[in-house]
Amino acid sequence: MLMVESAHALGRLPFTPERRVLVLGAMRRTAAALERAGWSVDLRPAPTLAAGVLAHAGDHRPARIVVAHPASRSGLALVGRLARALPVPVEVREPVGFLTRPGDLTALAGPRPRMDRFYREVRSALGLLLDAGGGPVGGRWSFDAENRRPPPRRPLLDVPAPWLPDPADPLDAAIRRETAALPALGPGGERVMAATPVEARAALERFLTHRLAAFGPFEDAMLTEDWAMSHSLLSGPLNLGLLPPRAVAEAGAAALASGAPVASVEGFVRQVVGWREYVWGWYWHRPWRRANRLEADGPVPAALWGAPTRMRCVGAAMDGVRRRGYAHHIQRLMVLGNLMLLAGTAPWAATRWFWAAFVDASAWVMAPNVVGMALWADAPGPGMTTKPYAASGAYIRRMSDHCTGCAYDPRQATGPRACPFTSLYWDFLARHRTLLGANPRMALALRNLDRRDDLAAVRAQAAATRDALAAGGA
Ligand SMILES: Cc1cc2nc3c(=O)[nH]c(=O)nc-3n(C[C@H](O)[C@H](O)[C@H](O)COP(=O)(O)OP(=O)(O)OC[C@H]3O[C@@H](n4cnc5c(N)ncnc54)[C@H](O)[C@@H]3O)c2cc1C
Ligand code: SF4
Repeated sequence: MLMVESAHALGRLPFTPERRVLVLGAMRRTAAALERAGWSVDLRPAPTLAAGVLAHAGDHRPARIVVAHPASRSGLALVGRLARALPVPVEVREPVGFLTRPGDLTALAGPRPRMDRFYREVRSALGLLLDAGGGPVGGRWSFDAENRRPPPRRPLLDVPAPWLPDPADPLDAAIRRETAALPALGPGGERVMAATPVEARAALERFLTHRLAAFGPFEDAMLTEDWAMSHSLLSGPLNLGLLPPRAVAEAGAAALASGAPVASVEGFVRQVVGWREYVWGWYWHRPWRRANRLEADGPVPAALWGAPTRMRCVGAAMDGVRRRGYAHHIQRLMVLGNLMLLAGTAPWAATRWFWAAFVDASAWVMAPNVVGMALWADAPGPGMTTKPYAASGAYIRRMSDHCTGCAYDPRQATGPRACPFTSLYWDFLARHRTLLGANPRMALALRNLDRRDDLAAVRAQAAATRDALAAGGA
């Protein structure tokens, strides 16, 4: 068994230190477990993945090479190049960690895929949460409407803490020391995701037993003091192939029989077999690198690279990024992604930032989530979502406690206390009015824009806000 610790992969971006701790730690623990099980393992540091494979082939002269279908286009191209360079056959098997195959998106959901249909198809095929007649348990395929509650009026959600590894884990500490000289986003110091199948099972069990019930209603809610809310923290082990998604979805569905509320169970199953597979399908469905529907060419806001910020919502998300390489979904979409959408950050610059910032990042998940979902940049052709996830400070105010005590006021679009999200939101609508005007789902937002009589002042404020975001003064 060959595993390559590629110096290029570890150093190509200023990653969160916890990404290196998670990925290298998972590889080294897996190598040790395979050796204990009788495999001969070559865990090989090398300048690049290709160099590692070629060096291994030179040293060991294998008769053939078997590899799982890579989870990225560049990985697939690399396997093709290696197959041509090596004198032995290279066999590509099924991808690890997915329920669907590249190409299944349109096969299941048609040429203009939408998540709801795709999810129904996958759920039906797997027999998840179905009643005796093959219909959805609880009478509906989606309980989304129940799963959008604002947070309770207290600092913490008050659910039992997630499974977390031993903070003094010696391998984690050794990897932190070993990688300390590499450029990094934040100091790190807290691994929060499982790095072995055993740890991943423990994390899943703890989530299902103690946290799942609150997952549904508070899926979209944010609290400044509660970094994990009721999220599962399973994306890392799922993406690393430590936990099969089918087992996760089946265990989630089985929680219904133990009394978990149907809205929470359905909400969780939807994330794992719906959104996760939908994103995987979209990754293979279109090119991402140059997509830029809104022709955005701005920089990543300086606060995201570590400049101090007075935006309390951004500060809370960045605290998670810098310490753990983790922020939950709504922080990623409606705070960090929304800020970059409204500020006009270039999609690929945003993608590289997300890649550096999160422990669970990889090409397939990054590109559709950032370029498609957060930045609505996936043109030409039908996109992943039918409208941009653009929101003013009013959304963040409703769904979090961040605005209380913030230096800014989410209701103000101009003046010294104007919330950057609010000024930028109205400016975004005005800037892209022609394109958005063709979209019936944006009609209400554009009618509200037309009612504003202070648009010139709002747009001047937004221009100043964009400069401040770029320079690190917001
Ligand atoms: C801009 C942006 C960037 C993102 N970057 C990543 C990333 O780098 N890696 C990553 O795995 N996910 C990413 N996501 C998706 C999602 O935010 C994370 O999977 C989730 O926050 C991980 O935390 P969790 O395990 O506690 O998730 P939970 O909220 O507990 O959800 C359960 C599981 O559902 C899956 N899931 C839910 N939504 C998605 C989605 N949109 N895409 C893929 N899987 C999903 C994940 O496997 C997750 O573990 C991103 C989303 C956005 C909007
Ligand atoms: S006022 Fe604006 S910047 Fe401050 S927390 Fe609320 S949304 Fe964020």
